[in-house]
Amino acid sequence: MMKGLLIPICLTACALTACAPVTQRPQVDDKAVAEEARKQSELALQDLAEDQTRLFRISYPILARGADLCADDFHPAIGIRHGNVQSVPKEMRDAAVRVLGLTDELQVIQVAAGSPAARAGLQARDVILAVDGKAIHAGERASDHFAELFAGAAKARNAVELKLRRATAEMTLGVEHERACAYPVLLHSSDVINAFADGRQVIVTRGMLRFIRDDLELAVVIGHELAHNSMGHIRKQMGNQFLGTLLDVLAASRGVNTQGLFGSAAGAVFSKDFEAEADYVGLYFTARGGYEVDKAPNFWRRMAAANPGGIQQRGFGASHPSTPERFLALEKIVEEIRAKTVAGRTLAPEIKP
Ligand SMILES: [Zn+2]
Repeated sequence: MMKGLLIPICLTACALTACAPVTQRPQVDDKAVAEEARKQSELALQDLAEDQTRLFRISYPILARGADLCADDFHPAIGIRHGNVQSVPKEMRDAAVRVLGLTDELQVIQVAAGSPAARAGLQARDVILAVDGKAIHAGERASDHFAELFAGAAKARNAVELKLRRATAEMTLGVEHERACAYPVLLHSSDVINAFADGRQVIVTRGMLRFIRDDLELAVVIGHELAHNSMGHIRKQMGNQFLGTLLDVLAASRGVNTQGLFGSAAGAVFSKDFEAEADYVGLYFTARGGYEVDKAPNFWRRMAAANPGGIQQRGFGASHPSTPERFLALEKIVEEIRAKTVAGRTLAPEIKP
């Protein structure tokens, strides 16, 4: 009885005093708040830059060494990530100027170890001024313009000439190019643990980067998604009239909250056979990228543990390989790759006669 009365009385009392806080807290001044906001946006930018650096460091060798597995979908590459202040999200641009020294001009952001660019001596922060004597526009379209000029130059010759500015010195370096799968691996800002392929590119969420424990696990995810692209799964599954995005990885458990990440394509998932094929071909990509794949099956086990709903017995209505089945199949794939490595054979998936 008393309880029922207390609540209305309390609410009335609150209304009368406007429920103002009664403690005397330390005050912060506006200048300090602005300074802290600056610091936080720098931290956010550094975090983003670290994720992008990691994704490129792991993905580039897989794309380059797996070029033979990408059929006709390869392009010339030199192993750099480039950009300017306009390639950074608007709210982080001020921080990008301060922390990364970005400007309107196109810069080398990252050079992949062992890549043609590394061999030619390119360095992060080099400003790219021209390709084969043709100047690159600064500003919004700088990256696209570089890509166009580079594609044209690479078609004509085995090496391209890059005019650079390093600190105050200008220099021209000849850079040979190599073949790499033409499926850029991009970062998505979502916190959802996922990765997906859309036939042209591979997207990995920042949530996934937080979930993976080591480079191998990320290489397994990238290999799997590349395989969906290289094997033409999107086209085969969805038909040519609609090239949409398919949910992946986490979709194996269904009922996942995609937080609007996948738009209208949400709910479309790869068939069980395509998933199994992406596991198979994907591990070849990972192995060619220079990874020991022995521990790869364990990654899918961890994914299953993160999504217990996805663990089912074989059969019953499952369009995805159930996790126990998937794990055992992966162990067999690891054995096959190990045997080929020992025998010094080319690492390529077996194709049906
Ligand atoms: Zn998949």
